[in-house]
Amino acid sequence: LGPTITVGEILVEIMATTIGKGFLDAQPLIGPFPSGAPAIFIDQVAKLGAQAGIIAAVGNDDFGRLNVERLRDDGADVSAIAVSPDFPTGSAFVRYANDGTRDFVYNIARSAAGEIKLTDAAKSLITRAGHLHVMGSALSIPAVWPIINFALQDIKKRGGTLSVDPNMRKELAAGEETGRQFATLLKATDLLLPSGDELFVACPASSESEAIGKLLASGISEIVMKRGQKGSALVTKTGSISRPAFIVDEVDPTGAGDCFGATYLTCRRLGHSAEQALDYANAAGARNVTYRGPMEGTSTFRELDQFIAATPRK
Ligand code: ADP
Repeated sequence: LGPTITVGEILVEIMATTIGKGFLDAQPLIGPFPSGAPAIFIDQVAKLGAQAGIIAAVGNDDFGRLNVERLRDDGADVSAIAVSPDFPTGSAFVRYANDGTRDFVYNIARSAAGEIKLTDAAKSLITRAGHLHVMGSALSIPAVWPIINFALQDIKKRGGTLSVDPNMRKELAAGEETGRQFATLLKATDLLLPSGDELFVACPASSESEAIGKLLASGISEIVMKRGQKGSALVTKTGSISRPAFIVDEVDPTGAGDCFGATYLTCRRLGHSAEQALDYANAAGARNVTYRGPMEGTSTFRELDQFIAATPRK
């Protein structure tokens, strides 16, 4: 099968412990937690026992070591995580608004993540990989573009596949070139995993069905819509399947989509049916939001089976 790989930011996340306060309101914060959407994604793939690797860079500091040790302990290939002598590990501060939305303050561009390079270790991981997953957030880092392009060519040439999670954050740079990179990637995408309005980022249209129709016509074979507490749905050229969410008390929403995507993809790569993959992915997303910290609630198959057996659905 070959490892699933991704490229992009590794960070620590430090979060508000209250809801509705501004960033300038002094309050108890909690963290650091290992984070970065690509890192959460690859940790979840590894937890499921599948081969998983990430091309990234951290600083020569405790925040970097925290992340690398977690990923290694959870079974991910960390050989292509470079340690920058010049830049620190990036960070993100998160606060929660009363309406359920989140705001981030990111320090990525001038962190080690902004300096990701196509090292020999990265090339070696790419040449072994069977699948590339790209997080939209990683496209805000220009250094990532040539690595994705190299990986995409190499993996596709060998019959591998590409999944994309638009994962857009309003706080991250999204200039014209980021848009062009995203559009190029979409042309080669096999599996697209949008949530909320991200479908319209991928394809401007006047309705969801129009956007989906255009994306399927352009060659994407599976579109999986993440719908938070409404569960998820798969749409292909031959029809659609919806699966309900699990009922949980949400403690921290960050990371749900990353765990969902990693689990759906891994289940499909392992040969599970679409229904089974959606159920496992809904479970991985729901279980993750019951933990504070974006990577604290990544799950093994055993944990997902136990969670599914014990948790009612909507
Ligand atoms: P993203 O994090 O990318 O915005 P979602 O919020 O839709 O994506 O979360 C991804 C998946 O995780 C959902 O499709 C759902 O299965 C699960 N999930 C997320 N939040 C909850 C919740 N509060 N209750 C139950 N399931 C959830």
